[in-house]
This record gives sequence, C-alpha cells and structure tokens, in this order.
Amino acid sequence: MSQEGRPRILYVEDDPASAALVERVLTVEGYEVVVVADGVTALEVSRRVRPALILMDINIGGMDGYEVTTRLRSMEETRHMPIVAVTAATLRGDRERALIAGCDGYIPKPIDVDTFPEQVRAFLGGLREEVESPEEKAEYLAEYSRRLVEHLEEKIRELQEAHAELHRIDRMKTDFVILAGHELRTPLTAIYGYTQILLSNPDIPGPADEVGSPRFILQKMAEATKRLSQVVEDILNVSLIDANKLDLAMGPVILDPLVRSVVRNITGLGPDRKLTFEIEGTEDLPPMVGDSQRLYQALWNVISNAAKYTPDGGTIRISGRVVEQTVHLTVRDTGIGIDLEDQERIFDRFYVLEDTALHRSSKTAFKGGGLGLGLTVARGLIEAHGGRIWVESEGRDEERLPGSTFHILLPLPQQNADDQPPPADPLEGGQPLSQEQEGQPQ
Ligand code: ADP
Repeated sequence: MSQEGRPRILYVEDDPASAALVERVLTVEGYEVVVVADGVTALEVSRRVRPALILMDINIGGMDGYEVTTRLRSMEETRHMPIVAVTAATLRGDRERALIAGCDGYIPKPIDVDTFPEQVRAFLGGLREEVESPEEKAEYLAEYSRRLVEHLEEKIRELQEAHAELHRIDRMKTDFVILAGHELRTPLTAIYGYTQILLSNPDIPGPADEVGSPRFILQKMAEATKRLSQVVEDILNVSLIDANKLDLAMGPVILDPLVRSVVRNITGLGPDRKLTFEIEGTEDLPPMVGDSQRLYQALWNVISNAAKYTPDGGTIRISGRVVEQTVHLTVRDTGIGIDLEDQERIFDRFYVLEDTALHRSSKTAFKGGGLGLGLTVARGLIEAHGGRIWVESEGRDEERLPGSTFHILLPLPQQNADDQPPPADPLEGGQPLSQEQEGQPQ
C-alpha cells in the first residue's frame, strides 16, 4: 500500500504509450502506479516499493519479462507478489509460457480499458491461474529451460565480443600513448639541450634571478621543459606498465647519490619553500641491481610529493637501512597526511585528493596539482624491481599536520659465498646522471 492507502502497482513496460495508457486508467481507478522500463530496474524497485501487484510486459530489452518474473519468484522479498503478464504475445502457448515462468495470470495487449480495471481487481483479490494439464506443464517447462540457456549463451557471446573489442581499443589507446610519449621525448630533449647550451654561454645577459633578463627567461624555459618531461615520463611509464612492455635497463645502482640528486633537483626548482631535507643512512646502503633512471623517477615522484604536501618550513626525512637482503627506504614528511581510506587508492591511476577545479600544475608548490599518475608510476616501477611501496599516516589534517611516511622495499641481489660483489663504479652504466643531466628529457 502507498502512504495514502492507495494500492501500489508496479508496471514494467518499455513502450511509453502503453505505459501512459495503463497509468491513466489505473490512476483513475484509485491506484498508485510506478512505471519502470527495464528488468534490472524492476527487480530493484519491486524490492524497494513492495507493490501489491506487478504488471509485466514480456518483450522488454535486456532481461525479458519471463526472466524477470522467474527471478522475482526466487527472491525472498518478492516471491509471493502477484505478477501478471500484460503482453502483445498472443500466439498459442504464450499464456502457458507466462504461467510457467512464474506469472499468476495473463492479460493480452492492447488492453481493453473497460475490462482492464476489473481484471486487475481480480488479481489483487487473489485470482491465480495455472497450467492445468501436467503434460503441458512439463513440456512448457522444458521449452522454457532451453530458452533460458540459449539466452544465456547469447549474452555470454555478446559479452565476450564486447570484451574483445574493449581490449582491442584499450591496446590501441595504450600503443598511441606510448608512441606519442616517445615522439614528445625527442623534441623535449632537443629544447632542453639547447637551453642548456645557451645558459652555458657567458654572453647571455643576466643575472638569472633578474625577472625578464634573457638568462632568467632561459632558466624558466629549462625548468618548464624539465617539468614537462617528467609528466611525459609518467604518462609513458604508466602506459608501458599497463601494456607489460616496461623494459628495465638493469645495472648496478647506488641509492645514496640517486636520493641526493632527487633532493637537489627538487630544491633547485621554483621558489624556496624553506623545507628541510634530511638524508640518513643511505650512504651505507650496499649497491643494488636495477634501472637507475626508473628508480630515480620513482623516488622523484615520492619525494616531490612529500615536498608538495608539506607546508613551507616543514621537514622531509629520507632514511635507508638494510633488513634481510632488502633495502628499506622511508620518506617521512611533516605534511597534511593522508586518510586511512585513501592510503591504498592514491596508488590508483588518476586518483587525486585535491579539488581538480582548483588545480595548479606544479611539482613542488604546496598542494600543486598533478595528473594523479605519480604514485601509480612509482608503484609500477618499484614492483617491476621486485619491490613494494606503501604509505602510513594517521590521517589528513591541514591544521595538525600529522605527516605521511612512504615505505619502499627493494630487494638486494642474493649473496652467495662465491658471488662477486656487484660493480660499484658509478661510470659503469645504470648510475645516476650528473646533476646537470638529471631530470632532463631522455
Ligand atoms: P599527483 O601527480 O596528483 O601528485 P600522485 O599519484 O603522485 O598524483 O598522488 C596522488 C594523490 O595522493 C595526490 O593527489 C595527493 O592527494 C596524495 N598524496 C601523495 N603523496 C602525499 C603526501 N606525501 N602527503 C599527502 N598526500 C599525498
């Protein structure tokens, strides 16, 4: 019953003209009519509004009326609701099919407006029809089961085709992004290289901190190119990780200079934010094997985030130690922190907690926006090295500043008794680039 005491009838019908006619006729008779146009909604609405009667069109898209009825009969909340098929299917056997599927009756369409209210009243009053002959019943049941299986098979095939198509489109998109990333890298490298050549020319008027001087402009161009190349690297890396095409250029890596150069490059970018960077324990870490440029990118993303989400004057502490053949790096900041429910999601691609309407693009400004790819890439790259990354924080509080601690585990090469120690010579490949080269487009 509805609130006003009028019996509520749910009409499942995808043809607006039929829905309008039945709604008008039944409303005049004092019923409250709820119309839904598809089977899945019908299942949800019938549980929610608890109608006194369901009128079911059979030929609706998706799940048809027979299937919706069978499903309603199998759900505790709806199994006893009277359901009447209202259908244009008036061939021999259509009534029996509706009854076999679980309907209590059958009203042919188009409805006769004079007799329709009386028919509805009868079903509301308890009228229930059945297939009389047991032989017929068995025959129609078998036919209905066959139809259900056929429909299921058709839907599975449609889903498989849609899945294959989505997969193809996704692969095309990823290939395109990888190509575009490579294409962008080359001119960025050239622009950055030429600005560096110009900056090394003492005849370029300066100084670099005099706003508007040619040296100042060139310096800004170099910084912008560096920033752009980091974005391109993130986009490229996320696509390569997605497509399982990440090739690591493995070599010996010494983490201490890598960490220090990330910090130098972050502090060298943009205005001074009075952040203190403390580095501890990394100089004692043994060399590991990895792709130094990829590890640089991962560390850059995590450490620059620590700077980004820590207000001016805060501290970022990077510590390293070895625990059972594993390097354990932590990046602890005194920033705004991260709520518990976001601590896993921030590693999802495009997940940003800041309001995108207030987006400010910067890798170092306080709460400067990003694409939401930084941590996805960091995780992908670290996992590609057989490592792990996660975050701990008491929660987000911009007043109290509880801070966040990112943990990174990276495996060290297995030490067998007769193993040679990995080469530690910084020039033997895989080593961080010099400060001038770092962050530059590759
Ligand atoms: P973005 O490029 O937008 O910074 P990330 O993937 O690097 O994307 O980070 C995702 C989100 O995680 C950020 O938008 C930010 O809200 C949150 N986040 C990351 N690092 C920190 C941190 N150190 N402190 C607080 N929030 C952080």
